[in-house]
Amino acid sequence: MTHAGSGDRRGQRGRWATWGAVLLAGLLVGVVTFLVALAVGSSGDPADDPSGRDAVDTAETSESVLTTVPDEVVARRAATSDVVTDRSEPPLAGVRIALDPGHNGANGRNPALVNALVPDGRGGTKACNTVGASTAAGYPEHAFNWDVSERAAAGLEALGADVVRTRADDTGVGPCVDERGTVGQDHDADLVVSVHANGSTDTSLRGFFVVVADPPGDPQHEAESLRLAEDLVEALADAGFPPSPVFAAALSSRGDLATLNHARRPAVLVELGEMRNAEEAAVMESTAGRQRYADAIVAGVVRWATGAPVTP
Ligand SMILES: [Zn+2]
Repeated sequence: MTHAGSGDRRGQRGRWATWGAVLLAGLLVGVVTFLVALAVGSSGDPADDPSGRDAVDTAETSESVLTTVPDEVVARRAATSDVVTDRSEPPLAGVRIALDPGHNGANGRNPALVNALVPDGRGGTKACNTVGASTAAGYPEHAFNWDVSERAAAGLEALGADVVRTRADDTGVGPCVDERGTVGQDHDADLVVSVHANGSTDTSLRGFFVVVADPPGDPQHEAESLRLAEDLVEALADAGFPPSPVFAAALSSRGDLATLNHARRPAVLVELGEMRNAEEAAVMESTAGRQRYADAIVAGVVRWATGAPVTP
């Protein structure tokens, strides 16, 4: 019996303990509920707040939500970002290049549009565009510029670059030189390369040269434009193309090219060779030759953008 009585007492104490726990839990729930109600009441409803504090409230709410992201989600994000960091990025990732294939296929049939005057970027005016040069066999500069630019665009994009163009095909008119000149700032490009070939009447003359604006369209980009020109000269020479003997170091500076005058980004105009020279015309008329020109442009841009030596 003693044994049983002692057992009852132990049972009674257990029951009191259970009730005590329930009471304590109830009190805790009550206090927490009261505190939560107090907190909600003090913050109010941001949507009804006439003081215009909605945005602030929303931001604070978002912040507090972010602090409750579960550990496993944080861990997963960290793991994902590690993967991205470890992957070696292509050399031109994040670089936007504006390519301007000079002239256009229908310019010759639309003299009124092409000859219309547009701002030259120096306070004067000049023709919207021109027909461009051609080889003795009749291969036109606009087609050469277009094909080389498209090949260069493919090479640049393969290296991770974003490429914008001043024209979508080789069958239209224009755009005018002022519009070509603003392509860099219009598309927030990092650099502008205008692609041309020269048409000197002296057929013995051959060689490429690169032009920068003088004075620069934007003094802030003078040095970078010059460096881009030098990198393209070096890349073209490395690819085996002859530099023009007309300009020292194959670098020309001019104030009459509206395309460069209007640019507010590092900008150059490259004359890849002389179309009336038989030897250079043969290279320009060949698919392999145009690919070589395009590869050299890509190499020059890579050197400018990364500071890395041009690799053959
Ligand atoms: Zn041209």
